[in-house]
Amino acid sequence: MPDPNGFLRYDRRLPARRPVPVRISDWREVYPPAGAELIREQATRCMDCGIPFCHDGCPLGNRIPDWNDLVRTGNWDAAVESLHATNNFPEFTGRLCPAPCEAACVLGLGGQQPVTIKQVEVEIADAAVARDGLRPRPASAPTGRSVAVVGSGPAGLAAAQQLARAGHTVTVYERDDAIGGLLRYGIPDFKLEKQHIDKRLAQLTAEGVRFRTGVEVGVDVTAEQLRAEHDAVLLACGALQGRDTPETPGRALRGVHQAMAHLVAANRVVAAAGDGRPALATLPDGTPIDAAGKHVVIIGGGDTAADCLGVAHRQGAAGVHQLDLYPQPPTERDAARDPWPTWPWLLRNYPAHEEGGERVFAVAVQEFVDDGTGQVRAVRIAEVTVEKVDGRRIVTPLPGSEREIPADLVLLAIGFEGTEEQPLLAQFGVTRNPRGAVDARGDWQAADGVFVAGDMHRGASLIVWAIAEGRAAAAAIHAYLGGVGELPAPVDPARQPLAAR
Ligand SMILES: Cc1cc2nc3c(=O)[nH]c(=O)nc-3n(C[C@H](O)[C@H](O)[C@H](O)COP(=O)(O)OP(=O)(O)OC[C@H]3O[C@@H](n4cnc5c(N)ncnc54)[C@H](O)[C@@H]3O)c2cc1C
Ligand code: SF4
Repeated sequence: MPDPNGFLRYDRRLPARRPVPVRISDWREVYPPAGAELIREQATRCMDCGIPFCHDGCPLGNRIPDWNDLVRTGNWDAAVESLHATNNFPEFTGRLCPAPCEAACVLGLGGQQPVTIKQVEVEIADAAVARDGLRPRPASAPTGRSVAVVGSGPAGLAAAQQLARAGHTVTVYERDDAIGGLLRYGIPDFKLEKQHIDKRLAQLTAEGVRFRTGVEVGVDVTAEQLRAEHDAVLLACGALQGRDTPETPGRALRGVHQAMAHLVAANRVVAAAGDGRPALATLPDGTPIDAAGKHVVIIGGGDTAADCLGVAHRQGAAGVHQLDLYPQPPTERDAARDPWPTWPWLLRNYPAHEEGGERVFAVAVQEFVDDGTGQVRAVRIAEVTVEKVDGRRIVTPLPGSEREIPADLVLLAIGFEGTEEQPLLAQFGVTRNPRGAVDARGDWQAADGVFVAGDMHRGASLIVWAIAEGRAAAAAIHAYLGGVGELPAPVDPARQPLAAR
């Protein structure tokens, strides 16, 4: 029986982050482990609600009150089982998820702070590694059916694990030189050390999943070849088409880059230092990737922008400005706009924001200013208002509000326009919709025998959605192949996050 008064006895507490001066001098994760006593205390705050709204916030349907209570009572082995029953990779979501489950926690309805669900999750996930090093769970018998998974992000990997455990022969094709999708070279080590991916890959390999890196499907191997070799294909190629701003004067100047070009190059240098993989010392256009000593301007307000901020400080930037088109969000939920249990529009302070830099809200770049040699020296910004008219965004500069911010390096982190246009699409007979995503029928097929999941289907989203879609697509593939029984399918292709309207 859970403790109904736990939340009255204990306040919400998270482990202290590593001190800023220490953590920006390395690339290690920002959070140290919480310690068993703090986690037991925090799990005790869970009321085990009759209707646990945290479930509705989580697309995976994680059994949150169950594992909270198992942690409270010290039953860690059962907590590990319960967590893995719905989530293939809780060590990724526990570290990286923005936690829509916490926004939906019933404690938030009564003005209390939500349960630290995500922290409990990561501690259980790490306990699993400490206990049995992620014991492989290979299928008891092979089905003789074969599946190709294209793309090795969380969607592809979750599907691969589900299908391999069901007895299918799974091969994951990845065009990059290492497995992991955005988790590998997109997300910096201070958010996710790559040892966590490598430990999971060892488990997947032991379960029979085959990995082929450096293979771009559609170029190095054709769709026709893949269809001939496999009984079904899952496309999980992500939504990596970065949004640009070609109409802004000065966009072509040296020093103005897509954020992902900078992040991937920086993360590769860290990877090379760690395990000897070759470093890319420059961006593809030959520009040094280093922000050291530079005035950096990051345009955008999301995860990618915050990651660029953390990278710039670790590289030794002279100063960083982060520009956002929208006004500064409130620090408390505006219940009229986003009633509980929906995801609220709030000022989100990532750990990177504690490390320095200045955030500037409600501004838009009017020009990237040339230093006379073709190199950017400043961005000229104006204060703006933003309105939605007939679904279109109208940005209006305020007259007389223009000013310059010094800039040697400008990073565009203004979102993604869906999955990339690439030869694979036409070869498989699938197309991008107006949002740049690939539509799926109710059974996750985009074309006969060709399934789609993750950001490629949903548009740029979250790891938790990628895992949920990967699991659901695996269930559909298993049924398509005539597999025995059913695999869990936490979402259908039409499922959307909780919303008030
Ligand atoms: C900088 C950044 C930070 C983020 N931080 C967070 C965070 O903190 N929390 C969170 O929840 N989400 C975060 N996200 C979002 C999250 O990373 C994505 O939603 C998630 O990775 C999507 O998973 P996926 O498997 O669909 O695709 P991806 O992870 O994008 O993987 C797709 C893979 O497909 C491969 N591929 C593409 N085409 C081919 C081809 N033709 N042949 C072979 N391989 C191919 C690509 O190389 C890539 O490896 C972040 C995103 C970015 C960009
Ligand atoms: S909504 Fe909050 S208090 Fe209720 S079961 Fe979920 S985590 Fe526990």
